[in-house]
Amino acid sequence: MTRRWNAYSQYLQRRYGQRVYRVGVDAHLSCPNRDAQGRGGCSFCDGTGAVAVHLRTGERDIDSSSSILLHDRRTIEEQIEAGLRFIRYRYHSTLAMLYFQAWSNTNAPVEVLKDLYDRGLSCHDFVSLIVSTRPDLVADDVVSLLSSYITPQRDVWVELGLQSASDETLKRIGRGHDVACYVDAVRRLRDAGIRVCTHVMLVTAYEGRQEALETIRLVNRVHSDAVKIHDLCLTRGTRLLDDYRDLGCLPCASLRRHVEDVSFLLAHLEGDVIVERLLTEMTNQRLVHPRHFPDKRDVLAMIDAHMEARGWVQGCLAGST
Ligand code: SF4
Repeated sequence: MTRRWNAYSQYLQRRYGQRVYRVGVDAHLSCPNRDAQGRGGCSFCDGTGAVAVHLRTGERDIDSSSSILLHDRRTIEEQIEAGLRFIRYRYHSTLAMLYFQAWSNTNAPVEVLKDLYDRGLSCHDFVSLIVSTRPDLVADDVVSLLSSYITPQRDVWVELGLQSASDETLKRIGRGHDVACYVDAVRRLRDAGIRVCTHVMLVTAYEGRQEALETIRLVNRVHSDAVKIHDLCLTRGTRLLDDYRDLGCLPCASLRRHVEDVSFLLAHLEGDVIVERLLTEMTNQRLVHPRHFPDKRDVLAMIDAHMEARGWVQGCLAGST
């Protein structure tokens, strides 16, 4: 289906001529923004470190008072084998991208990272290496290691968590890095031929639409190749839950507000930026309050319809002030 934005699925179709699937792995690298016991970190983070749902062993054990670092205990080879088996069985495909998804996947000395990436890439002929991490964890030696995996057949992507273009907001949510750090990381990664996907969060607890717009304008300015937009979710075991008690109101967007905000932001996002995600994918059991969002497909259809009603396509307002 053609969207009014530059959808990731359409980009993959153009690039590879068919659907491509991600094999997500947990390399057990944890997060430098949390201490050894898993405390601290970003105020919205419940300690699952973006571990793929199918890799979350023990999720049922989470309770509201604990902060548990969840890991898949299998080796990355075992995880990859299982992921590829699933793709072959479910989609009858072998075209796959290797996705170091959970936690901060450059959070180790470069020799350790090289061993991990080498091992992962030796398991299959992956068409992309995708590494998810933080802006303050891409030192020059990491950038050069990552760029060494680029071939004519294989792209290398880094997914960087920015969340907001406001230093004040980054401080409030405890990101532990500032905006300048993100700008510098994107520049060095892109100079090395590595493609960048920026994670943005609509931090509705502390920001309005204007601040979110500034974040999208920053994404445009640094020429991020892709973006993932998330809505703020209130999950168990987070510091955001304490803030929520102080705020006295739910810091999450309603469905209507999310659809309107995302449509507005897409209209301001440069047309060539690939849109990988437009809402947080979250199981209801992790939420303190159920999110009254329908199925993801329906939310995307609502955003499409909202943009159509306004005559918007991605980028149509990108040059406006
Ligand atoms: S950087 Fe990622 S894993 Fe670490 S605390 Fe923040 S959201 Fe959680």
